[in-house]
Amino acid sequence: MSLQCAHCYKSFSIAKVNDSRGKGLSVEVQCPHCAAWLGHNKYLSVVKIVGFYGGVIAAAVGYFVEGVTVITTPLIILAVIMVGLSHIMDHLQLIEVPENDPNAETHAK
Ligand SMILES: [Zn+2]
Repeated sequence: MSLQCAHCYKSFSIAKVNDSRGKGLSVEVQCPHCAAWLGHNKYLSVVKIVGFYGGVIAAAVGYFVEGVTVITTPLIILAVIMVGLSHIMDHLQLIEVPENDPNAETHAK
């Protein structure tokens, strides 16, 4: 899995990340190129999880309970759309600019 830094725009492998902080949804990783802290949009992560489990539950209910497919089928479709959209929109966000960043000075001028 390859990630792109929101600060220096270089791509790097998740295996190359030396430093991370936080847990669960608020986990942040440090870019190995410029040392900026990057994280995911928490709102999109919640949408993705809710959509995923909502779809799984709707599919399970539709499978075990008769006569509810009219309700569960649109729910499954909605869940798939939620997960797909949140996945497309889920980019790494810049949480904290690196210390002693040469690019930050050129932007200030
Ligand atoms: Zn970077």
